[in-house]
Amino acid sequence: MQEKITVIKPLIPDLDEFIPMLRDIWDRKWLTNNGHYHQELEKALADYLGVQYLSLFTNGTLPLITALQALRINGEVITTPYSFVATTHAIWWNGLKPVFVDVEEETGLINPEKIEAAITPKTSAIMPVHVYGNPCNMERIQEIADTYGLKVIYDAAHAFGVKVNGKTVLENGDMSTLSFHATKVYTTIEGGALVCHDAATKKRIDYLKNFGFAGETTVVAPGINSKMDEVRAAYGLLNLKQVDAAIASRKATALKYREALKDVPGIRMLHDIEGVHHNYAYFPIFVNEKEYGMSRDALYEKLKEHNIYGRRYFYPLISTFSAYKGLDSASPENLPVAHKLAGQVICLPMYAGLKEEDLNRVIEIIKR
Ligand SMILES: *Cc1c(COP(=O)(O)O)cnc(C)c1O
Repeated sequence: MQEKITVIKPLIPDLDEFIPMLRDIWDRKWLTNNGHYHQELEKALADYLGVQYLSLFTNGTLPLITALQALRINGEVITTPYSFVATTHAIWWNGLKPVFVDVEEETGLINPEKIEAAITPKTSAIMPVHVYGNPCNMERIQEIADTYGLKVIYDAAHAFGVKVNGKTVLENGDMSTLSFHATKVYTTIEGGALVCHDAATKKRIDYLKNFGFAGETTVVAPGINSKMDEVRAAYGLLNLKQVDAAIASRKATALKYREALKDVPGIRMLHDIEGVHHNYAYFPIFVNEKEYGMSRDALYEKLKEHNIYGRRYFYPLISTFSAYKGLDSASPENLPVAHKLAGQVICLPMYAGLKEEDLNRVIEIIKR
């Protein structure tokens, strides 16, 4: 059996650089609650990403939950079934009703032209996702939000460093969330962030992520605990130094995949969009069973037989899970494109430093 190829490998900093930082944390004896490295990372990330107001979190799910709290969203939230479950779970955890809207076939992004029909008097927000790091149609979404008086919270878990015409996607909508989970382009092991656009809102978010404490004896809201600790903040500072090189390595891999697979009938890939600085977070292919001569699941299993582990992101659709499948908007007739993509997708191995020989092994199996 050949060596195992996994869908991702986490971005890990140099241990020799990490150890002195750990020594420093041990010396300071300040482990969490807005410590030295927390403050440094918050600033460094805001600089790197080109945003003014960013709050660190302990993962990428709590910023979604907290954004809905901070904006006092109520009633119904329009979202996409073609995402990681956390997007819809965050809506549910706020006691809100998720309303699913279908996606665009080309990209898997929420289809703005389907949003208006899903708006009711109870709708108060839209939660789109920059799936695979491709930017949503933010202009159209904002236009709809402005017309109907809705807030927009972008789940930007896949969109670390993504820019459109030189401008970060994170400044769009009312807030954007990031995940720094080990499987993401940039990681702090577990971690995340919430981006907003003014100092007062950031202050409120920082209260909410620390139980609502606004002072030693003042609690201004029923907050939660989602603070990042010093060890992971230090880890994150080191990874920030190598994330550009990591994205460049991913890009080289993506270009090789695209070149090698471009003439394989029945295999569709995503392409770079003009003016967009991509992060190559994932490399999804969409398998057309008739043209390819094999189903997506058969190819997925075939890769596994050769010790290659892709992932079917996003299958099954969120709307098919037991918690949500009873919702009117979850009916498959409402979501034909999302169902089609979920039935065709495999995300191929994609990470910084993926070896040429491993890449070739994946390509050979798909071509055969
Ligand atoms: C990873 C991810 C999340 C959740 O992030 P965690 O850090 O794992 O909590 C949310 N939304 C999307 C789209 C994701 O891919």
